[in-house]
Amino acid sequence: MDAADMGDDLKDVLVTAEDLDRRLGELARQIDEDYAGKEVLLVGVLRGAVMVMADLSRKLRTPLQMDWMAVSSYGSGTKTSGVVRILKDLDQDVTGRHVLIVEDIIDSGLTLSWLRSNLVGRGAASVEIATTLRKPKAAKVAVPVKYVGFEIPDEFVVGYGLDYAEKYRNLPFVGTLSPHVYQK
Ligand code: 5GP
Repeated sequence: MDAADMGDDLKDVLVTAEDLDRRLGELARQIDEDYAGKEVLLVGVLRGAVMVMADLSRKLRTPLQMDWMAVSSYGSGTKTSGVVRILKDLDQDVTGRHVLIVEDIIDSGLTLSWLRSNLVGRGAASVEIATTLRKPKAAKVAVPVKYVGFEIPDEFVVGYGLDYAEKYRNLPFVGTLSPHVYQK
């Protein structure tokens, strides 16, 4: 899927596929340096983090394992509910492991701060966070995010794993939707 397949549903491209690729490469080099001599457990947050997990993990040289969690804090629309539920838990034990949570986007930060304390509580040796995108609101939440791809404006975005009503996840870039899409 690309911009041409979206007709007039696409408002703007915020982050191009090339920008994503270059920035994830930079983050991977930084992660490799920070985890030198260690193994890392990448914990992807389903479903939005699928793209960044696939791309970031292939750029990393640090020995790694992957696991997945599914949590829900949003409905099918664009508003947060503030409630985090575990829909799918990790398969692996995180005790004593260096965990790097891989996220698509941090908006209110509610999901992440909850997830971070949850994994710290299970006895992980360290828990850091990598996210493709971060919105301004997230800066107000006291959750330390070590690796941030791009700071974006406070707009609802889709693409590169992010959906609107389960659509547009397979867009190779991050963009905003025209208002008429929400009225459909
Ligand atoms: P938070 O708890 O930080 O407010 O929300 C995190 C989750 O909300 C993300 O993992 C993502 O699923 C969803 N989310 C937040 N902002 C957006 C957005 O602009 N677009 C989409 N598609 N999902 C978002």
